[in-house]
Amino acid sequence: MRFLIPALLALSAAPASAAAPPPKLLIMISVDQLSADLFAQYRRHFTGGLARLQEGAVFPSGYQSHAASETCPGHATLLTGSRPARTGIIANSWIDPAAPRADKNIYCAEDESVAGSTSLRYTPSAIHLRGRVLGDRLRASGGGRTLVVAGKDRSAIMMGGANADAIFWWGSAGFATYAGHAAPPAVAEANRAADAVIARPAAARPLPTLCRARDRAVPLDGAGGVTVGSGRLVSTAGDRSLYRATPGFDAAVIALADALRREMRLGRGEGSDLLALGLAASDYVGHAFGTQGAEMCIQLLALDALLGEFFARLDAEGIDYAVALSADHGGLDAPERAREQGATAAARVDPALAPAAMGAAIAGRLGLAAPVLVGEAPFGDIYLAPAVSRRRRDRVLRAAVAAYRAHPQVAAAFTRAELAAAPAPAPSASPEAWSLLDRAKASFDPARSGDLVVLLKPGIMPIAVPSRGYSATHGSAWSYDRRVPVLFWRKGMAGFEQPLPVETVDIMPTLAALAGVRVDPAEIDGRCLDLDAGPGDTCAAR
Ligand code: ZN
Repeated sequence: MRFLIPALLALSAAPASAAAPPPKLLIMISVDQLSADLFAQYRRHFTGGLARLQEGAVFPSGYQSHAASETCPGHATLLTGSRPARTGIIANSWIDPAAPRADKNIYCAEDESVAGSTSLRYTPSAIHLRGRVLGDRLRASGGGRTLVVAGKDRSAIMMGGANADAIFWWGSAGFATYAGHAAPPAVAEANRAADAVIARPAAARPLPTLCRARDRAVPLDGAGGVTVGSGRLVSTAGDRSLYRATPGFDAAVIALADALRREMRLGRGEGSDLLALGLAASDYVGHAFGTQGAEMCIQLLALDALLGEFFARLDAEGIDYAVALSADHGGLDAPERAREQGATAAARVDPALAPAAMGAAIAGRLGLAAPVLVGEAPFGDIYLAPAVSRRRRDRVLRAAVAAYRAHPQVAAAFTRAELAAAPAPAPSASPEAWSLLDRAKASFDPARSGDLVVLLKPGIMPIAVPSRGYSATHGSAWSYDRRVPVLFWRKGMAGFEQPLPVETVDIMPTLAALAGVRVDPAEIDGRCLDLDAGPGDTCAAR
């Protein structure tokens, strides 16, 4: 219409400095184990929050570009803007042979200096995370409080750092926070509500029509009759572990975040506040049941509905918010079902690749006493045992590298020296085209990484023997684990889809630019993504 034309011209001619004012609330949502593959599979079926986010800026190929695609490193990339080589969070845990305690395993989010701490019973802490998280940057720029609520301590801590104004995660006894931090009454209420849900007797959930075709029991190899595929996410009947693999777990995290957000009056202050949500149920579903059964179908449709309700509450309160949603890593289905569905090479890892087994074989050949190798998994960071004498270490390492490289399930094995000497991936290189060495280099920390790093071939599931609750996992250097969606949304924005790859380290500088906070590019690995679909630039004016 005629009277609209001047307004349109004015819009298109607007300089970047006239961009929208900073949102009052930045919301980072991490959906644990939401691969780009699952997003592609379900995106047309979403009608709630995950449908709304697709009206914004959609980057379907976001990369957790590093090799060790685990929860702790993945969450650390999201709000630091840096890869594991810079954050120091190379894995969920690593081995420190010099640790002054019997347990040499260091959990990524523990303070091992606390007396009596072990990697399993520890004091949660952000001491291992290097670099500033977005919340620290918002605070330093004169405004902005941070609230973090997550289903896992490592997710909360890697997104919120040490200084979040309020930070809560689900622990063995319910929602908890750092030692010495106060928990408002809403936390005790959330724990009582969760306890009531957990205690409910088992009952089948209704199966959405979309999920019916996936509702089929598949037996897992060597698991004594355990099947996946038709779990129906029954209520938990007192099982706190199973509870985490239900949509109710995500609902509890969102409900607590909502209650605390209201109490803190986030989104109503001077600067941009930050709310980070770590939604972990999808990961527990993936581990317990794989990705292609009825369970994941139910979970993702429920998550979509929960997020829709959450956004609707923010809308009703008139809060000006911007959302980023991504994932810490992707995932892969259980090989028993994958083999039935066209992936004939899908297999479980050979138990002979476990560091203890491989080390015993090498020790036998070299006439040494085992153990000569230590490590948590049949891939990733593997360390020479502290007991191996200095003069034998080179020989043991050479034997280990040769043995891993010769195994038909191994794609690559790199030594610490090779990784230390490798250049960091070129800034211009697309993460989808990175070499395996590039990927491992982005996960490498000279003080924390293994003496060797082993990468398995595509489709090799690194769980040798599955069990109830543990049928499938992630952690590989391949796209099914490395590629995740990156979505941004703000009310009124013109949406677009950009299929070229971006990285999850780009999220922090993108959100910082929206909030008007300058980030020195030399401090981080990511770059600001322009969320303006036209000639405007949400990165330019800041
Ligand atoms: Zn995870």
